[in-house]
Amino acid sequence: MLQAELEDGRLVLLAAYRTEQIHKLRKHRFLCPACKKAVIIRAGKKVIPHFAHEQIHDCELNRTGESLYHMRGKLQLFHWFKRQGLTVRLEERIEKSTRRPDLLLHTAGGKRLAIEYQCASISDEELFRRNEAYEHDGIRPIWILGGNRLKRTSTFMLDLSKRDQRFLMQYKRDMPLQLLYYCSDSEAFCNVQHILLTGKKQTVGQFYFLPLQQIQFPELFHPLPKNHQKIKQTWIDFQSRMAAKPLTYAPGNMKRWVLQLYERGLTLQEIPVTILYPVEAQYHMSVPPYIWQTDLWLEQLIPLPVMNSISLERLKHVSKRWEVLHKPYAISSDIHPVESYMNHLCLHGWFEQMGTDVYVKKRRSPFSEMI
Ligand SMILES: [Zn+2]
Repeated sequence: MLQAELEDGRLVLLAAYRTEQIHKLRKHRFLCPACKKAVIIRAGKKVIPHFAHEQIHDCELNRTGESLYHMRGKLQLFHWFKRQGLTVRLEERIEKSTRRPDLLLHTAGGKRLAIEYQCASISDEELFRRNEAYEHDGIRPIWILGGNRLKRTSTFMLDLSKRDQRFLMQYKRDMPLQLLYYCSDSEAFCNVQHILLTGKKQTVGQFYFLPLQQIQFPELFHPLPKNHQKIKQTWIDFQSRMAAKPLTYAPGNMKRWVLQLYERGLTLQEIPVTILYPVEAQYHMSVPPYIWQTDLWLEQLIPLPVMNSISLERLKHVSKRWEVLHKPYAISSDIHPVESYMNHLCLHGWFEQMGTDVYVKKRRSPFSEMI
């Protein structure tokens, strides 16, 4: 922990003192702000001056297994917020709960934001519990991932595990999907925006590296320029590569689906890439777009005669078997993937939308002659 209490209740942020001062502070007795048990000073050439429990026991400030990387980042972010004139508290307990976010930000408008700088992995249950608790207290959580978790694989791609996909956020309705990383070694944010999931861990996105000293907090939530062409092309290339690959490690339902395709005399490689379209809410789906979008055509859109209509409800129902239960927590607008896909087909003249949720087929399907 970075702060501890003196016997009179005053909080001391150890890292704010110089070495000689810390030496003098060693004469005092310090208590853990959570459990009120004695803590000792840890300071030296290589560590951020901090406190640690004298004896190992179960305390909420013990459980996080805080690394030096995490502690350093938390402190840098704390000073960064302060320099911007924001009211920020370090490791402060939220009243009537036992939660202590890394940083608690009080905005001028009276809102509170919990900044969680997450460098270690966290279980689904714990993440859910924390988000729920914050929501219950009217606090908005902002998850900033440790830069140690960023796995960039090319100019427009990163590997994003299913676990890290939980931190996808969309701060406002008109914002693109984004992920925030902060590296306490390089003292810089990496703001990944315009994220397109592929159905695998390989993820498309645009990277912005921003030194801490050069940006202000609200700027993290501004939409950054998008290289439309490169983003789309990277996504399409990946989908085509996936469709051409043997499904050795694919889940059972996907394998069964491809087998059915073969039985109908079709191969995945024959599917025209022109029917594939990246949708933002791909996080709802358990399989890559080249599977569920093709499936939608084969099951519903191809058999439908031209000038006949079909409802969005029906199409969603067909895709239900590919859906997952959970979506990321911090998403403001959530258009169903099938709806986004149909909007795209309308835009390109395949269908026309009638009313809010009915589509009329306008021309023959792109690969109906193959069936
Ligand atoms: Zn304690």
